[in-house]
Parts: sequence; C-alpha cells; structure tokens
Amino acid sequence: MKTMQAIVWQGKEQLNFQEVPRPVLNCGEVLIKVHYAGICGSDLGIYLGKHPRAKAPLIMGHEFTGEVAETCLPPDSTIQVGDKVTVNPLISCGHCQPCRTGNAHVCRSLALVGIDIDGGFAEYVKVDAAKIVKIPVNLPLDLACLVEPVAVTAHAIRKSALKAGDTVAVLGGGPIGLLTAITARFAGASEVIVCEISESRRELAKNLGFKVLDSANNPEGEIIKLTGGNGVDIVYEAAGAPATALLATRLVKITGQIVVVSVFKEPSKIDLRAVNFNELSIIGVRVYEPRDYEVALHMLQQRKEIEQVISHRFPLEKAQDGFELMLSTGNSMKILFTP
Ligand SMILES: [Zn+2]
Ligand SMILES: [Zn+2]
Repeated sequence: MKTMQAIVWQGKEQLNFQEVPRPVLNCGEVLIKVHYAGICGSDLGIYLGKHPRAKAPLIMGHEFTGEVAETCLPPDSTIQVGDKVTVNPLISCGHCQPCRTGNAHVCRSLALVGIDIDGGFAEYVKVDAAKIVKIPVNLPLDLACLVEPVAVTAHAIRKSALKAGDTVAVLGGGPIGLLTAITARFAGASEVIVCEISESRRELAKNLGFKVLDSANNPEGEIIKLTGGNGVDIVYEAAGAPATALLATRLVKITGQIVVVSVFKEPSKIDLRAVNFNELSIIGVRVYEPRDYEVALHMLQQRKEIEQVISHRFPLEKAQDGFELMLSTGNSMKILFTP
C-alpha cells in the first residue's frame, strides 16, 4: 500500500503530521499531487472544534492547487496526467429544491471537499473529475490557490446591486474583506473604503490603494463626509462581528444595500429601524456558482496585486504554527501550505 504525509485533524486544537494511506481511485476520480493549499476561516473553525459538520479524523483543505498524478477516466478525457488543476470543492445532492432550481451552491445538504471528506492538506488528494478546474498556463499555482476565496468575493459582487461608479465600504480587511475590495474595484466601484481594526491589515489595504479607516475608531463620520453626507451605495460585511453588523446600517445611504459576506458564528443584532426608515436592502451570499470560478480565474490573471493577500508559506509539517499564527488575528492574511 502506498502512503503519503498529511495533516490529520484529530479533534479540538489537535493536528497530527502523519503517514496515512494514499487515496485509491474509483472510476471517475482524479488523484492530484498538491503543490499549494490555503488555510480558510472555516478550517480555523474546524481546528477549534466549532464547525457544525466536520468530524475527526479529517484531512482539511478545500483551497488547493496541484497537478494531476493519476486518473481513472476514459483515455480520451480532457483531464490528463500532468495537468495543472484546482477544484471547485462544493458537493451538492442534485435533487433537493435549491439544486433543482439552479441553486446547487445552496443545496440543503451542501458538503465540501476538505470539510466533509478529506481535502488538500496532504501530499495527494482524490476528487471527483467533475470538480476539476483547469488552471490557465500563465497563472502560477500559488496565486491560483486563491481562486476559491476570489470566487467567494466574485459571487458577492455579482449578486449585489453594484454598478459602475458606486461607492463601497468593506467591513473587515482580512483575506475575504480585501479580496471583496479588489473585486469591487475590478467591477467598477469608484471609491472603496476598507474598515479594519488591525493596523498591519490596514497598512496592506492602504498599499493596495484603498481608502482605509479604523473600524474601532468611529469610521462613520469620515465615511459620511467622504460620500457628501449620503453614506455609501453598498456595504459589504466581511468581518462577521456584532459591532460591524450594527455599523453597516449607519454607513449605507438611504435605499442602499448591505451584503452579508462573512460567516457569522451566531445570530447578530442589526438595526431594523434603519432598514425600515431608510428602505435598505440586505442580502446574504454564500460560496459561489461555477461562473464565479471562471470570473475568479480571469481576475487572478488580470490583477497580479492579489498576490499580496498571500502573507505566509509553511511546509506541511509546520501546520500547527500556521493555525496558531492565523488565530492571532491581524498578524496574517492568507497562509499557504506547501506539501
Ligand atoms: Zn475557503
Ligand atoms: Zn441539493
């Protein structure tokens, strides 16, 4: 039996770097040799034992790139050994009502590679051939590792009411917040203001050319001033904190829109008086649709500045350090493992 090295989550705050059996392919599956794998906020939730579905033992990782090492496909398949690939990690049931009405990304029993089945924090990972997304030749595999989070923000922007020339506030300057800001600019926003509490993250947002405010230091007055007394057209909430949920209704213009991008861990207060009086609309956005993946790949080729969102790289055996660093909020952005 062939083996490989992997990071196995064994329960709350317990990661083991260990030798495990290499996945054996069934028909229709592809084995990927992993080059890069990113840690996501949801991986952190699993690590802390707070994820509602993940069960130990599990190899996490749903943001990864690599090359096809082996396939169990017809010889004339479009997927061949050596192809540079990533995956769309969503696993939908195909027959619930959302799936039957074109919304498989919010399937009633949505599962993900790396959360519900073994993922990419290993030397090899096997996936269903239908999940394979080819990476354009001119896109490096480390940058391409951001396709999944960029697809999240592409989905957020495409589902929102954003129009060319709109003003935007993004609450939260972590990886998803900054990628939301970059995507909003890509889509034609005239002014993008990032509100973030961590100084180092504010610094990065500033370097990327955004107007930056400290969300702990009453950004409301400044934003109202910057928008001629009106408030922004759209607020993207990407911090997932009770304070920013309350802030959102104070920053948005009358008849503006609030887009909930972050994954809130518990119900949060929101000022429904403002929603009523100012005719605000609030929408939620979750993961992505296949078209968002195409847009994300296009964006990654156009906007090399996205690379600045990658802050650290660790070998797989240092996984614990990667998770600990990510826990010390504000000291890191996207962390990649290099199996
Ligand atoms: Zn992710
Ligand atoms: Zn379904």
